[in-house]
Amino acid sequence: MLVSTISDVLEGKALRVEELLSEYYGPRPYRQDAYDQDILGALIATVLSQHTSDLNSGRAYRNLQETFPEGWESVAKASQVKVADALRSGGLADVKAARIQRLIKDVTSRTGAASLDFLRSWNDEREIVNYLRTYHGVGPKTAACVTMFNLGKPVIPVDTHVHRVASRIGLIGAKVSADQAHDDLLKLVPRESAYSFHVHLIEHGRSLCHARKPQCEGCPVGAICNYYSAKYYAD
Ligand code: SF4
Repeated sequence: MLVSTISDVLEGKALRVEELLSEYYGPRPYRQDAYDQDILGALIATVLSQHTSDLNSGRAYRNLQETFPEGWESVAKASQVKVADALRSGGLADVKAARIQRLIKDVTSRTGAASLDFLRSWNDEREIVNYLRTYHGVGPKTAACVTMFNLGKPVIPVDTHVHRVASRIGLIGAKVSADQAHDDLLKLVPRESAYSFHVHLIEHGRSLCHARKPQCEGCPVGAICNYYSAKYYAD
């Protein structure tokens, strides 16, 4: 069947991309994120990382913890102004303060506690992602990041680097959205390679496959990249 043939070709290509990037950047075995002790904290940290650098969001997260040492319940009960003040270094402080307070309140009212650590006992990564996405302000990338980095499950968060690199190489169609790409990419790689594949694509997007000027000369995956073929071998 033509459909299975195309998907077989894409799977083979994804495996080859992972091999080549692994040779170029080195192996990237799973490493638990720093927030792994507290899943709600990890979700809050990931919300804070939206639209800002890791440096700024990390600073905002630490400041939030220092301002509210009693725990997440105290963040939910505080005035929005006080929470926003603690988040100033992370950008969009007012929006993120409101979002985080609502998140903690929603988690508490639905589960009876300001904690998501019960998710550690869930086995199905798709159920975890779908559950996290039921919370306001938690999109597919945020849910996938917590599920992969903090719960160690095989999903592929798609940020701007992963989306751009996968699209240029031809692992996803040019019109496939980042939201759709989460599922499409996951079908192409073995479960045990999902983390490494994600990290390699981000590394490649940051190092060579830049948004404006990709450094295709000397790129380790140039020989199997659609963008490269179109650029250098087009009639
Ligand atoms: S060949 Fe160019 S476009 Fe393709 S992955 Fe490498 S840097 Fe990106």
